[in-house]
Amino acid sequence: MKLFEFEAKTIMGSVGIPVPKGQIVKVAEEVFNLKLEYPVVIKCQVQSGGRGKAGGVKFANNLDETYELAKKLLSLEINGIKTSSLLIEPKTDIEKELYVAVTLDRGGKCHILLGSSEGGVEIESSDSVKIIPVQSEYQPYLGRKLAQSMGLSQNKLNMVSNIINKLYFLYESYDLELAEINPLVFTKDGRILALDGKMTINDDAIDRQPFFQGWEINHLTDVSERELKAKVAGLNLVELKGEIGIICNGAGLTMATMDLVKKYGGEPANFLDVGGGADESRVKRALKLVADNPNVKIILVNILGGITACDEVAKALKVFAVENPDKKVVVRLLGNNQEKAVEIMKGTGIKSIDDLDQAVKEAVSLCSKT
Ligand code: GDP
Ligand code: MG
Repeated sequence: MKLFEFEAKTIMGSVGIPVPKGQIVKVAEEVFNLKLEYPVVIKCQVQSGGRGKAGGVKFANNLDETYELAKKLLSLEINGIKTSSLLIEPKTDIEKELYVAVTLDRGGKCHILLGSSEGGVEIESSDSVKIIPVQSEYQPYLGRKLAQSMGLSQNKLNMVSNIINKLYFLYESYDLELAEINPLVFTKDGRILALDGKMTINDDAIDRQPFFQGWEINHLTDVSERELKAKVAGLNLVELKGEIGIICNGAGLTMATMDLVKKYGGEPANFLDVGGGADESRVKRALKLVADNPNVKIILVNILGGITACDEVAKALKVFAVENPDKKVVVRLLGNNQEKAVEIMKGTGIKSIDDLDQAVKEAVSLCSKT
């Protein structure tokens, strides 16, 4: 789960990382009720990279400019993602921009500290980024080492290493996958300030993080309406650009099925894993979500019955076929209670094609004829 900048900054502020005093608006007219110190910076709260470049960070010198910009920015989409609110802060006079972050190095199997004295846009991929691995317990000398490698000394080194210690504390205690400040700035009047903040919480850790309980639904901002419905229903749906809707059980089988669709010249319209032990109602919901996508011409169902019973899947397919006679479904249904499934599907026009290659070829061929 990715947090919005204003949330990340609030959390950073709670452990003493200095952040500008910000205010959130969701409707442009709210700016008339704020006490603002001009000039201000107005920042789209949107979960997409490259916000500044896309025009999502603007400055205003008075109330009129703030209002006009607020109207514009609230309707701005960045990389197809809508702005959910605006963060308005006093504009900071920057002396120098830095970059610091903590994340996980999966290849190296350790956490890493990252830093650069060239902060700002697209620094993440720059050669100037220094990396310090955290092999076991974090110790403050590691933060100092990073700050030193960033070319800092004396007071500035102390200020930055102090921030890195706090950032690591948040990273560890909130089960974050990423905690990033870009830019971390030295101001012209000698202060240090986190001007932008990113935090990603490990989705699998949310249940043991009471602080974030209930936050998930408000942070699914880069998903389609159907993907959101699927998430709420406990289904794992990712929509793509093709025309063959795919329903499988298990992420591995789903991906293998998608690969085969591509191999035989088709394009998957989605990834949908109904999970283990899916019952009739779960499969019904999956079929409905996939069929609701207007791009879908054919639905390919590939279920290997293990914990999932084939007869439960067949019951859902039967109801779906009756309710949606115009939707074409190609099915491969093998394993647990397979014979019962065959019985249930008799007379529906649906029959399982046991050979996977054959089933996929059939789906691709039907799709090209539709
Ligand atoms: P991002 O593009 O989403 O990373 O947005 P940032 O919040 O990092 O802002 C992008 C850039 O805008 C920063 O690197 C700064 O150069 C500039 N910027 C943002 N806030 C301020 C501010 O308060 N004062 C000044 N002078 N520049 C700012
Ligand atoms: Mg930034």
